[in-house]
Amino acid sequence: MEFIDTHAHLYVKAFAADRELMIERAHANGVSTFYLPNIDQESIPDLLALEARFPETCMAMMGLHPCSVKEDYETALAEVRSWLERRPFAAVGEIGLDLYWDKTFVREQEDAFLRQCAWAREFNLPIVIHSRESTAELIALLRKEPKGTLSGIFHCFTGTLTQAQEIIDLGFYLGIGGVLTFKNGGLDQVVSEISLDYLVLETDAPYLAPVPHRGKRNESAYVRLVAEKLAEIKKCTLEEVAAVTTANARNVFPGYDLAEKHANQQGVSKN
Ligand SMILES: [Zn+2]
Repeated sequence: MEFIDTHAHLYVKAFAADRELMIERAHANGVSTFYLPNIDQESIPDLLALEARFPETCMAMMGLHPCSVKEDYETALAEVRSWLERRPFAAVGEIGLDLYWDKTFVREQEDAFLRQCAWAREFNLPIVIHSRESTAELIALLRKEPKGTLSGIFHCFTGTLTQAQEIIDLGFYLGIGGVLTFKNGGLDQVVSEISLDYLVLETDAPYLAPVPHRGKRNESAYVRLVAEKLAEIKKCTLEEVAAVTTANARNVFPGYDLAEKHANQQGVSKN
């Protein structure tokens, strides 16, 4: 049985003390691969260092997170762009809109999102979308993009059934994480109506740990807890959840050439 964690910030300081053990625990729970979304300029060195240490299992994305879009976002975007030109990445991510924390830079967030969407098209990469309190806005923006030219994941999806259907119609997958296990979250009812064919698993570690670890540090091993809850909701076996969501994750990130990445990293380590 194999799981893929399609969204995990395993390079952050929360894992400084036990990063390798945490990754071993994930493997022991069947999690084979970790897709690592970038946050901003500051996170890039740690992101790339973790990927270089575990090149077979840790796959870096490149992008500017909406919560990091501030006055100086042009500089941050230029850095993202230069990395996309330099080497392959699994996706452009995470990008999007966050209308929960701070709406000061909402116009800039939108600009950064659309420009990074254009880069995803240019580099033929999927996008991984952060949509906190902004699912409707992002669906509207994506509908204005040329049809069928973008694909990817609405990470940590918590919207309505109608929104889920709209996202699927746009050619995107829904990233399902710890929120699925929360009591009164309501996500279980939405997910019960959606085919497994459109779902991928994620943790968003170190955030949003599933029950019974809610409120504590999240880690990739807990993907299994999300998968177990999904099997219960969909009235199917854990094996089926693993097989379908893993195939979906491979379908989202098909263009990632591992061989090219390895050649690239050997080049880096010789310097
Ligand atoms: Zn994230």
